Amino acid sequence: MQAFANTFWDLERHRPEKLRTPQALASWLEGRGLLNRGARLNEGDLRRATEVREGIRSLLFANNGSLPDHAALERLNLALQGACVCVRLNAGGWPQFFSPHNDLDGALGLIAANVALAQLEGGFARLKACPGPDCGWAFYDYSRNQTGTWCSMSICGSRIKARQYRRRQRGTHGA
Ligand SMILES: [Zn+2]
Repeated sequence: MQAFANTFWDLERHRPEKLRTPQALASWLEGRGLLNRGARLNEGDLRRATEVREGIRSLLFANNGSLPDHAALERLNLALQGACVCVRLNAGGWPQFFSPHNDLDGALGLIAANVALAQLEGGFARLKACPGPDCGWAFYDYSRNQTGTWCSMSICGSRIKARQYRRRQRGTHGA
């Protein structure tokens, strides 16, 4: 789920969108065993997957203190219509979730099920999207009090601090 959210990243500006074409989406999903080898996807599939991804990112921004983006959530849940996942129950073990046909519906179903499980067991609140300019990177907040805000203090955190510092300097010397 985190890796899926991070298929788009322009933190460094020259790190482009990974899912630029339906073929790129298919090979990303294939590489993770979420799609049958050689499966064909179209532009509509790509749009649907991107809406799931950006909807998940809006949840991660909300975990980081932003107001919920209702439009993104609506697009997410529309895109999830038809997504499916199968459950295999085991005695004394963990249930197994799997995609019945290894198609896009199954891939999106498994991604959504991962989010749902993380929300149920509580770990989801620590998965956040970085609010840095042009960032949005999904990261796991390991801080003890769950107060981490930035993907990396050395990149976004320090950029923001530098910006605030410059603003303060201008405030002092300007006007
Ligand atoms: Zn960042």
